[in-house]
Amino acid sequence: MKQFAVVGNPIAHSRSPEIHVAFAKQTHIDLSYDRILAPLDGFETTIKDFFANRGDGLNITVPFKEEAFALCDVLTERAKAARAVNTLWMQNGQLHGDNTDGAGLVNAIHALSWSLNNRRILILGAGGATRGVVLPLASAGAKEIVIANRTVARAESLVDDLSAFIKNTELQTIALDQLTGHFDMIINATSASLSGEGITLPETLTFDHAYEMAYGKPSSFIDQAKERGVPTADGLGMLIGQAAEAFYVWNGLRPNLSTLHF
Ligand code: NDP
Repeated sequence: MKQFAVVGNPIAHSRSPEIHVAFAKQTHIDLSYDRILAPLDGFETTIKDFFANRGDGLNITVPFKEEAFALCDVLTERAKAARAVNTLWMQNGQLHGDNTDGAGLVNAIHALSWSLNNRRILILGAGGATRGVVLPLASAGAKEIVIANRTVARAESLVDDLSAFIKNTELQTIALDQLTGHFDMIINATSASLSGEGITLPETLTFDHAYEMAYGKPSSFIDQAKERGVPTADGLGMLIGQAAEAFYVWNGLRPNLSTLHF
């Protein structure tokens, strides 16, 4: 039996085991998928123990994605661009890392039939999640991506890191309290809704679609978009999409998402 797990802190809330077990059942792969709580100062030991005990693959979640990136011997292009890793496996004694968050988001957006090609996209937040999605959104054809963050310097350093990987999409930064103009899509990649805080979207900011990366919690971002009559979605589709991509990386098979319900 193959052994997988998700590592984070906290981890009890993670829905990844349920999702991967459903994929395994559908594709007839014999696997186990656990949750592992890593101490904040013990991430490296936790993953080394897992692979030493013949583990096959790990997903990595908050707050360890950047630490995971730093530990890898071999990285995919999208992980290099993101400087954050959510999928690990061992091959020929080397730790490999990938970032499937962006593919998960792009697949979820396409499943909603929202177009990315030639679109102007505003992302709120410049943390690990934004790092993972900018290159995949650009590769999906976005014309312009504007990154708005409370701490503008963090958005600027993200653009500095990513611009070497992105050729045909214009990247811009803006302060979160300076939002204005029209966007085809706005994506909330702040963790504001996790802490119960909200972001106020000014009237001078207009948009046609609103995607909230968080899931399973009330979101004032979604409420404000609904008040404007704009189509909305929460991050469950992205979560399932990133899991499907990690499942493919590890097992070489893509689950059929249209017949699964979470
Ligand atoms: P990080 O902690 O790396 O970044 C948090 C971001 O939120 C920063 O840009 C921070 O701004 C901003 N922020 C936090 N609180 C506030 C606030 N009160 N007002 C304004 N901005 C705020 O988190 P991640 O990037 O890893 O995750 C972001 C969100 O995406 C979370 O909700 C997470 O659950 C979700 N996510 C969902 C996934 C999915 O599969 N659906 C996958 C990955 C993430 P500053 O830099 O100024 O501190």
